[in-house]
Amino acid sequence: MLPAGGLLELTPQGLYCRAAQAWIDPWRPVPRALITHAHADHARPGCGEYWATGASEGILRQRLGAGINLIPVDYGQLHRIGGARVSFHSAGHVLGSAQVRLEAGGESWLVSGDYKRCADPSCAPFEPVGADVFITEATFGLPIYRWQSGAAVAREIVSWWQSAPERPSLLFCYAFGKAQRVLAELAQLGISDEILLHGAVEALMEPYREAGVQLPPTRAMSSLDRHAELAGRLVIAPPSAHRSVWMKRFKAPQTAFVSGWMAVRGARRRRGYERGFVLSDHADWNGLLSSVRESGARQVYVTHGNSDGLARYLREVESIAAEPLDGAFATERSDNEANSSEDAPDGA
Ligand SMILES: [Zn+2]
Ligand SMILES: [Zn+2]
Repeated sequence: MLPAGGLLELTPQGLYCRAAQAWIDPWRPVPRALITHAHADHARPGCGEYWATGASEGILRQRLGAGINLIPVDYGQLHRIGGARVSFHSAGHVLGSAQVRLEAGGESWLVSGDYKRCADPSCAPFEPVGADVFITEATFGLPIYRWQSGAAVAREIVSWWQSAPERPSLLFCYAFGKAQRVLAELAQLGISDEILLHGAVEALMEPYREAGVQLPPTRAMSSLDRHAELAGRLVIAPPSAHRSVWMKRFKAPQTAFVSGWMAVRGARRRRGYERGFVLSDHADWNGLLSSVRESGARQVYVTHGNSDGLARYLREVESIAAEPLDGAFATERSDNEANSSEDAPDGA
């Protein structure tokens, strides 16, 4: 529970800042929303006013409607909203993702949204930000989660793809964020082959190209693509396309899924993929701990995933006042991604 009289409170619509008369990533339509990023569990339709980074504007308008009332902000820029000072700082999660810092009445709070600390050529890096109170996610809040670099995972993906020149290689990952990160990592490795994209992925490429992210050439799959041309090609598609009618056009494809959840024993087999590549857009255990320490916060609240475990560790080992924050924070489930829409709930 959040303390009464603090800068933020938990309402049925979500985290609310009375001083700014604004909700952060509200669960229901509200007059004023401060949006950390464009994943579906953070950016919902129907709000009166959306404050979000300019880098996330393209994706937000595509998903919530071109006509939404969106106020684009830059990272680090200070805004007076009502009686609060509000700034957005890079979260390193996906293109345009931000942590939101609020300050009023001599108190500062930082809401992390989703974030990661690993380098990602498709978005700005995480910025450590100080605050009195830090609300952090803990999607992968267990010591077993330790991520390899994106570059290392991309090299594994390339050797998997190139090991099957006679088969199409279908790589499944969330359409927003993960797909473009994989593509940007491939570009970093010097891959210049044309990559084929499922329509749901292709639809989100333009904001990345506009943002100047280096990407290999891509094109949307066409129903005219025949097996002869598809052999040896790398195709990127959302999990919802796995085992769908769309897949029938491929003859004997090899399949793989890219997700932080691939670190969980049995997850790949349960979903029916031949290969799993462990790549997450959330902080791993060490990333969570260093972010908490660098915030300098005297009080930490933990949402998502292993919120109890991380809060207990912070109290008992790090001697930081910490507790889980319960609410309708949508936690990505590790068991039903194949059934979810392309990136819902969360693009882990
Ligand atoms: Zn999320
Ligand atoms: Zn997210």
